Amino acid sequence: MTSTDKSLPVHLIINPHSGHGGRKRLLSGIRAQCRRADIELIEHTTTAPGDATEYASSIAAQASAAIVWGGDGTVSEVAQALAGTDVPILPCPAGTENLLAHEMRIPSDPHKIVDLIKFGRIVECDVGRVNGRNFLLIIGVGFDGEVVRRLSISRTGHISHLSYFWPIWRTFWEHDFPHMKITADGKEVFDDFGMAFVGNISRYAVGLRICRDAVYDDGLLDLVVFSCHRQHALVFHAAWTLLRLHPLKGNVIYRPFRNLRIETDRPVPSQVDGDVGPNTPLDIDVAPERVKLLVPESRNGWGFWPWKGN
Ligand SMILES: [Mg+2]
Repeated sequence: MTSTDKSLPVHLIINPHSGHGGRKRLLSGIRAQCRRADIELIEHTTTAPGDATEYASSIAAQASAAIVWGGDGTVSEVAQALAGTDVPILPCPAGTENLLAHEMRIPSDPHKIVDLIKFGRIVECDVGRVNGRNFLLIIGVGFDGEVVRRLSISRTGHISHLSYFWPIWRTFWEHDFPHMKITADGKEVFDDFGMAFVGNISRYAVGLRICRDAVYDDGLLDLVVFSCHRQHALVFHAAWTLLRLHPLKGNVIYRPFRNLRIETDRPVPSQVDGDVGPNTPLDIDVAPERVKLLVPESRNGWGFWPWKGN
């Protein structure tokens, strides 16, 4: 096993509201594989928002690893508690959106997941901070934040990709792009109308790679700003982003940074790791503490995109 103390049990933190029926079969598979491998497994099923953080805090000194069975929201909650500790997190692709699990190429097969507990590699992942709150994946400011804000108002239980349709549709037609002033590492880099993203990983929803070149362990976060006055510009930006060529466009800012400030002409909402975040102004930096992740031994092969290999 790859943990610092092999005598400690592995904890399995389950969000019962994530995933679908077929995923429960995989969960049974993990239990069976752990029994076979003689791994002591302690399970905890979350009951409310914030519960995963509370539970993870309570086991920080008593776990060799924490398997998270849920979506990105559950992983973020666990990471809040385990950042700066020696307990690695294994984020399973078990929710609606699993950006971190996909970025780290975590398999969904129970046998391979248990193999990761035994033989996986521990890496240290940067943690971002926005207005003092930790985040792991990506922040969206403006349009994106408005979509998540609208979704949170209409939300009733489990979220699917379809849940985003009406919030995106309405925001598309009604959104007024804010005037943003963005300062990165002490230098003003943007002063115009638009929308901004800050990523610790490259993946964004529906397979887009907005922060295309983001690396999770380089001590930097990636800023992407789309200059946008009207709705039709958004369509062009989306098309270039699908092709992963948007950093090459003249009206797109793409740069890594350590410290960032985003100010707007009025308070605008943000989304942080898929949840409602603070309104602007935002102060964003890299947190001093990192979080440990259990990942497969090596990345394999070339991807379809020659200008961004994976
Ligand atoms: Mg980075």
